[in-house]
Amino acid sequence: MLPVPEQVETRTERPPSIPITRPWMDEREAEAARRPILSGWITQGPEVAAFEREFAAMVGAPHACAVSNCTTALHLALKAAGVGPGDEVITVSHSFIATANSIRMCGAVPVFVDIEPGTFNMAPDLVESAIGERTRAILCVHQMGMPCDLERLVAVARRHSLPLIEDAACAIGSEILVNGRWEKIGKPHGDIACFSFHPRKVITTGDGGMLTTARPEWDRQFRLWRQHGMSVPDTVRHAAREVIFETYPVSGFNYRMTDVQAAIGREQLKRLPEIVERRRALAARYAELLGGVPGLVLPPEPSWARSNWQSFCVRLPEHCDQRRVMQRMLDRGVSTRRGIMCAHREPAYVAEPWRAAHPLRESERAQDTSIILPLFAQMTHAEQDAVAAALIHSIEGKHAV
Ligand SMILES: *Cc1c(COP(=O)(O)O)cnc(C)c1O
Repeated sequence: MLPVPEQVETRTERPPSIPITRPWMDEREAEAARRPILSGWITQGPEVAAFEREFAAMVGAPHACAVSNCTTALHLALKAAGVGPGDEVITVSHSFIATANSIRMCGAVPVFVDIEPGTFNMAPDLVESAIGERTRAILCVHQMGMPCDLERLVAVARRHSLPLIEDAACAIGSEILVNGRWEKIGKPHGDIACFSFHPRKVITTGDGGMLTTARPEWDRQFRLWRQHGMSVPDTVRHAAREVIFETYPVSGFNYRMTDVQAAIGREQLKRLPEIVERRRALAARYAELLGGVPGLVLPPEPSWARSNWQSFCVRLPEHCDQRRVMQRMLDRGVSTRRGIMCAHREPAYVAEPWRAAHPLRESERAQDTSIILPLFAQMTHAEQDAVAAALIHSIEGKHAV
């Protein structure tokens, strides 16, 4: 047996006064959670079905299927695309590790391509050279809510007859310009888009995920897989006037979302336009507050993209030590996170197979030189001023607190 590494527990005596994020929930979500609790139907029932309909309508997708989280959504998306053992999937290392892990869950090998330094997203120019005989799919990530260059990525995928799957974990409410019109991420523009409702994302159900697709056969497949491959859903058997025996035509998983989560999600969805509007206003205000700081690089937004600003990630001036800046800010009560991780640098991927088509220089540089600032819908201007002041102070290297 291999020794199991311990999880590190860090004790915090005084939590920072400005957290990196804070979910926006109140009595409305609490009240919504009462409905399924008191109804007698608490998992994958009417609330989940309603949440799926409302989510599909919001992004403009023909189908939406709710699952337990975005990692399981990615697993099912890749499986539907035909990804299996020995296959390769082109993706980025510069992402939360779940992106690469979902490929490994299929027994396939991630092939990492580098990112564009501005948007932190997959560089479309580099994808083609990474495609090989065993490539089975392309998995792009709308990193931190910033849409990928889907027009170019879809073109590469179509040219090679490869399915394009969008890891849209962070991109609920983000938009791209398509033929002169703004469309939501998740329509989908690729073949399948996967979303997360983890509290670190823009709206939350605690945990939860959603798959959107235009293909009815894939949507049916997701519904089978998420409930143990069962031919007849519980809701249908419950409502039937005749006895029904279910069958299990395929082996599946338990990737269900509960009705308690879905009821909360429906309330969160109502708040989404206001959440995104506030986040955009706060991102614009960060740009004003920090625009003149020498050497600090702010995140650009391409003219064809509208981010939901799930994260606001800045590049530190070259002379700065990332950890020291973050510690100084924490000492002033401001929580930050370092730039997005690179899966290939983690101990887990010493053991796991992966391949890189070229050096991942921009991915590594982004992780090492950028930090993520606090941003949440309820953030006050005073809090934002305090973050900006803490950052400027920490960059300048003054030690007085
Ligand atoms: C958060 C995140 C995930 C995982 O989402 P879960 O719902 O926690 O499984 C996957 N990909 C990206 C890019 C993420 O940010």
